[in-house]
Amino acid sequence: MKELYQIFLTSNGVQTDTRKIIDGQLFYALSGENFDGNTYVEQALSKGAIHAVSSDLKWENDSRVTVVKDTLKNLQQLATYHRKKINIPILSLTGSNGKTTTKELIISVLRQQFNVKGTAGNLNNHIGVPLTLLSFNESTDIGIVEMGANHLKEIETLSNITLPDYGLITNYGKAHLEGFGSEENIRIGKSELFEHLRKHNKTAIVGHWDKEQLKRSKGIERFLTSSDSKLIKAEPYISLEFEGKQCDTQLVGEYNYHNMLLAAAVGQIFNMSTTNIIKGLAHYTPNNNRSQIIQKGNLKIILDAYNANPSSMVVALKNLSKQSERKKIAILGDMFELGTYSTTEHQNIAELTQQLQIDQTYLIGEAFSKVNCEQAQLFENLENFNKQFNIDKTQESVLLIKGSRGMALERILEIIK
Ligand code: ATP
Ligand code: MG
Repeated sequence: MKELYQIFLTSNGVQTDTRKIIDGQLFYALSGENFDGNTYVEQALSKGAIHAVSSDLKWENDSRVTVVKDTLKNLQQLATYHRKKINIPILSLTGSNGKTTTKELIISVLRQQFNVKGTAGNLNNHIGVPLTLLSFNESTDIGIVEMGANHLKEIETLSNITLPDYGLITNYGKAHLEGFGSEENIRIGKSELFEHLRKHNKTAIVGHWDKEQLKRSKGIERFLTSSDSKLIKAEPYISLEFEGKQCDTQLVGEYNYHNMLLAAAVGQIFNMSTTNIIKGLAHYTPNNNRSQIIQKGNLKIILDAYNANPSSMVVALKNLSKQSERKKIAILGDMFELGTYSTTEHQNIAELTQQLQIDQTYLIGEAFSKVNCEQAQLFENLENFNKQFNIDKTQESVLLIKGSRGMALERILEIIK
């Protein structure tokens, strides 16, 4: 590992995609279901990579290539090696919903005083986590690592790669039910981060409102979010009071209040002033199809098309029902990865739109089109929906657009123009 690490240190960073290679990068030939990175080694070198890591024996006698048995494992080991060498404080976060948003809020807060680096976008899996660690360098004061999981033991593995000093779980919800098998398994799976912190005597940051987390983090050194805080208003944007001071943010959705308290707690752990913490929270604007607001004449669109699962659907619909506009419209797309829970969970969401008295509900997708719901209009796919959908933009109304990533419901914006 030492030799390879030296090469990494002189490189321009690690790259796994030859289409994106820039001069001086270290290329890792990873293999997925549909591709074999080993076939791109030649191309990577000719496009400017200074070195490559491959599992193809044909490179054994070429000094430009290090041949290892398992390139992914090697990448993860390199990341841990680097993490130990740079020895900066690292915070890992996981949870069913709100990881990326909370990560961005944390970065926005810490940035007020520190040189902070974190996961780029949503690179939160067994490849993204090592790449994130390898993006930290000497000038990084604090590193933030988002960890995603869709089955048990994944967070344990990612924690072992990252060796975090601090950890937090945004919440336990119903995401990736198929892979985890049950809600209890989701709680166990996310809590693998807590177990890691326990074993290594590190610190958990815990939301003071979350009974389940308080229970599961017992015995771990922990830092609780400030109870000297309250939600002032959630609409159109969140305003909160934190440690006696008001903070007006640019985020929608009451659920983001808790994400903010977690980010604020991270600031406190690093001894930041309340003023700077508030500045960081106020500064963050989402621009990634997550809880974005778009105003078109009298129509206010809450674009939350980045992703959906039963728990994030519930909070998003409740948030819609609390908006001040008189007319409320929901356009919802299928929630994926629910396995045997799919029928019930889609039916529950359909019923919730009725209970919340959403004025118009459009349900799109294979699963949603099969629910039993009188008030809703059902469509098998987006094409059918687009053909029939028409909106009166003169009337003051608010529209929520939300569905799983595969539904890509942001495409609806094109027809609302
Ligand atoms: P992924 O699993 O795709 O990485 P994530 O956990 O990073 O998702 P975000 O991308 O931050 O989550 O947010 C996705 C959506 O989850 C948001 O647009 C919002 O609808 C919902 N969400 C965010 N925070 C919460 C929360 N605290 N509770 C419930 N739902 C939330
Ligand atoms: Mg994410």
